[in-house]
Amino acid sequence: MQSFAYIVASILFILGLKRLGSAATARQGNLLSAVGMLLALVATLIDSGFSWGWILAGMVIGGAIGGYAAKKVEMTGMPEMVALFNGSGGIASLLVGWASSTPGTTLTPAVSIPLFLAVLIGGVTFTGSVVAYLKLSEKIDGKPVMFKGQQILNIIILAALLLCGVLYVINSGGIGNPWLILAVLLSFAFGVMAVIPIGGADMPVVIALLNSYSGLAACAAGFIINNTVLIVSGSLVGASGIILTGIMCKAMNRSLGNVLFSGFGSASSSAGKAVEGEAKPISADDTYYILEAASSVTFVPGYGMAVAQAQHAVKELGALLEENGCEVNFAIHPVAGRMPGHMNVLLAEADVPYEQLVEPDDVNPNMAATDVAIVIGANDVVNPAARTDESSPLYGMPIINVDMAKTCIVLKRSLRPGYAGVENPLFFCENTRMLLGDAKASVQSLVAQFKED
Ligand code: NDP
Repeated sequence: MQSFAYIVASILFILGLKRLGSAATARQGNLLSAVGMLLALVATLIDSGFSWGWILAGMVIGGAIGGYAAKKVEMTGMPEMVALFNGSGGIASLLVGWASSTPGTTLTPAVSIPLFLAVLIGGVTFTGSVVAYLKLSEKIDGKPVMFKGQQILNIIILAALLLCGVLYVINSGGIGNPWLILAVLLSFAFGVMAVIPIGGADMPVVIALLNSYSGLAACAAGFIINNTVLIVSGSLVGASGIILTGIMCKAMNRSLGNVLFSGFGSASSSAGKAVEGEAKPISADDTYYILEAASSVTFVPGYGMAVAQAQHAVKELGALLEENGCEVNFAIHPVAGRMPGHMNVLLAEADVPYEQLVEPDDVNPNMAATDVAIVIGANDVVNPAARTDESSPLYGMPIINVDMAKTCIVLKRSLRPGYAGVENPLFFCENTRMLLGDAKASVQSLVAQFKED
C-alpha cells in the first residue's frame, strides 16, 4: 500500500513540475505537487510506527513557524525566504543523517556513504544558504569577499572532508563518529567559504545551486532511511535546481566554474568605467504625451517594481495603452529581481496576460523599431556597459537593449546603481529620460492622466 502511494505521489510530483513550466498551468502544478507531498507524508507516517506525539509536536511547531513567516513576509522578502527554505532543507537532511548514525551500530557502505553525503551536502547547503540570506537581506555586505590564500584554504577543507568521508565509511562500525562530527564542522565552514566569494549579479546562480544542493541532500537522506519517495523528490529538486542554475548561467553568459571561482565583481576587480554626462529628467505629464503618441511600448520590470509593488498599476497602464491602439509587451530578463522568476510571479499576480511576456532574445531584435521602452525599477539588466565596457563586471551579460529604443524612460528614485553596484550609462543616453520617484506613484499618475483623457 505504501509503495503504491509513493508511486502515485512521485507521478504527482512529476506532473506538478511539468505544469509549473508555464504560467497558465503553474497554480495547478503547485496544487498537484502539494497533494503528492501530502500523500507521501500520510503514507510514510501511517506505516512508520513512529511516536505520534513527537510527530504532531513537530508538525504544530514547524507549521506555526512556517505559517507565521509566510504570512508576515513582504513580497520583496521572498528571495531571502527562499534562501532560508533551502537552508532548512539542508539542515533537515543533515539531521536525518546524524540521527541515523548511532554509535556502536555497524553500517554497511550502502548506508554510511549516503549518510556521509547527506551530512556533507546538508551542512554546506545550510551555512551557504544562511550566508545567501544575510547577503540578500543586506544584513551583511552583498559584495564578494575575497582574500589571499582563499582557494588554497578551500582545497584544504575539501581534502579534509574527503579524508573524513573515507575514514567514516571504513570505521562506521562504531568508532567512525568523530569523523562525522569533524565532517559536520568542515561542511559548515565550506558552505560559508563557497558563498562568500560570490555576490553582486552572480547571486541568482548561487540561489539556484543551493536549491539543487538541498535536493541532493534530501535524496541522500532518502537512501539512508530507505524511503523511495524522498529519493525521487530529492532527485527532482536536485535536477531542476541544476537546470535552473544552467539557465541562470546562460542568462549571464558565464560558465558555472567562472561564477563559482572567479570572485566576480570583487572589491579588487574593476567597477567599470566612470560614467559621465547629464541625466535628463522628465515629468509625468511629458511622459504621458510620449506614451499617448506611441504605437509600440515595451515595459522592462526589475527589482524596483517589486519594492514599489507597482505591478498592478503597471498592468493597468499596459491595458490603457492597448486601448489606445498601442502594441504592448513586457520584456523579462531571467535575473531581474532577486530570485529566479521574480518578475513572472509579480506580473502573474497582477494578471498580466502571459502572451505579453517576452524574453530578451525575442524583444532585442525589435528594439530599434520600438517607440518607447519604459524601465520600471530595473537597472543592472538594462545596463549597456554589459555590451560596451570590457572593464565592467557586467561585461558579457546579455541585457535588454532599451538604449536602442527610439525613446527610453527610466522610472526609479535616483541615479544610484543597481544590485551589482555598477554605474549605468543608460541614464545619460541621448534618448533616455528619467522619471524620478517611486515607481508605483509615477505609474499611477500616468494611469490617472490616461483615464482623465
Ligand atoms: P537592480 O537591483 O539592478 O536595480 C533595481 C533598481 O530599482 C535600483 O537601482 C533602484 O534604484 C530601483 N528602485 C528600488 N526601489 C524603487 C522604487 N520604490 N521605485 C522605483 N525604483 C526603485 O535590479 P534588476 O532587476 O535590474 O537586476 C537584478 C540584480 O539583482 C542583478 O544584478 C541580478 O544578478 C541580482 N540578483 C538577482 C537574483 C535573481 O535570482 N533574480 C538574486 C540575487 C541577485 P533607486 O534606488 O534609484 O530607486
